Amino acid sequence: MTKNTLFQYGTMQMLVEGLLEGTLPLSELLKHGNIGIGTGDGVDGELVILDGVGYKIDVSGPAVKLPEDFKVTYADVSFADYHKFKSYQNVELVEMLKDVLTKNNAQNQFFAILTKGVFKKIRTRSSKKSHKPYPSLEKIAENQVEFETENITGTMITYYTPPVFQGVGVSGFHNHFLADDLSFGGHVLAATMKGVVVSIQPIESFKLHLPVDNQEFLNANLTDISKLDNVISKSE
Ligand SMILES: [Zn+2]
Repeated sequence: MTKNTLFQYGTMQMLVEGLLEGTLPLSELLKHGNIGIGTGDGVDGELVILDGVGYKIDVSGPAVKLPEDFKVTYADVSFADYHKFKSYQNVELVEMLKDVLTKNNAQNQFFAILTKGVFKKIRTRSSKKSHKPYPSLEKIAENQVEFETENITGTMITYYTPPVFQGVGVSGFHNHFLADDLSFGGHVLAATMKGVVVSIQPIESFKLHLPVDNQEFLNANLTDISKLDNVISKSE
């Protein structure tokens, strides 16, 4: 395995189909990367892994450090080996990410982007943990909580997934934020950067691990992929 490997646990389709059980301990996930994003058991908040430490931003707002036995449902992790690309001032999130992708001609590959600095305005989302029997991701999306803040310093972890992998992952950009002081974070919905430094890491390989020891996953009917697009755009 090269160091530029994206390790993914679970698929977005599993979440869409209500397969929300956390089946991988954080300690195991950390063997495959020291930076990343994800969600926990029952969609228990938005996860950020930074410098080998896992954090959760749940509906209460601030980030909390996670124990090593925390169970993960879905995650993308890699070993951080970024190099500096460019500084941006007063730019919208979407505009900035498009610029990074285009200038690196990276639209057909997995691509990791790290954005550090002052965010002028940022809006994030988190979900409330669900318990068995799990509702669909569509239902969970209706109970999401949104947070917004201004002039906050932190780190945004972004993975770009080529469109052909929609349903395996989240096609396009998937961004999670963590404030330096841990007061704020989550799945990023919108942001305006005040002054940030963007670093990049092209991903060469994609490794997918499925919960093959989980009976619910093994028994689920995962043949209907027609609603993936719609649900993922609403919830991820
Ligand atoms: Zn997310």
